[in-house]
Amino acid sequence: MKQIVLATRNKGKLKEFRELFTPMGIEVLGVDEISSVPDVEEDGDTFAANAIKKAETISQALEMPALADDSGLEVDALQGQPGVLSARFAGFHATDEENNRKLTVMLENIPLEKRSARFVCVLAFAIPGQKTITAQGVCEGLILTEPEGNGGFGYDPYFYVPQLKQTMAQLPPDEKNKISHRGQALLKLEKVVRERFM
Ligand code: IMP
Repeated sequence: MKQIVLATRNKGKLKEFRELFTPMGIEVLGVDEISSVPDVEEDGDTFAANAIKKAETISQALEMPALADDSGLEVDALQGQPGVLSARFAGFHATDEENNRKLTVMLENIPLEKRSARFVCVLAFAIPGQKTITAQGVCEGLILTEPEGNGGFGYDPYFYVPQLKQTMAQLPPDEKNKISHRGQALLKLEKVVRERFM
């Protein structure tokens, strides 16, 4: 069976990627299952730069194909912030609550129609000796003033999806995966992986 390593310690992401790749006859290993995997600093200006850096560093170190993702929220009224800083918007090791509070305060006087935003996810797939493949997924929405729903993580309770009339945090996981930035990026990547890796 072909193997790839997933450059994340996030168990939820590992599960999502396994569901996609196992039917294709590809085994997905988490970095926690392999010793001596280098830690990669996410210091790029773009989601793509961070995803490519993670995938290529790990692929070169382990001499095997590696998949990495980087994702975050872009708010138009904030000129694309928090962007690549989404996880640490309110500071290093900030909690979801702290990041959401900062977002809410910064958008305080902005009316709903000007609160457009999107979740973005870039996946990078690095194969030793080949050009790295990337795929981007986007999910458009609006940032609410009050949280709704208990599911998901991060900015989900404030992220309203107009087409479904619910926040990301109100959607069951399989519904979120269908429309999410990560789900969309995975769909695109699947096509390219089939062409280039199978
Ligand atoms: P990372 O790609 O795991 O580094 O995630 C970056 C940050 O973006 C997360 O810590 C969240 O704050 C935010 N984020 C990424 N994807 C989602 C999502 O699906 N829902 C809510 N927040 C997200």
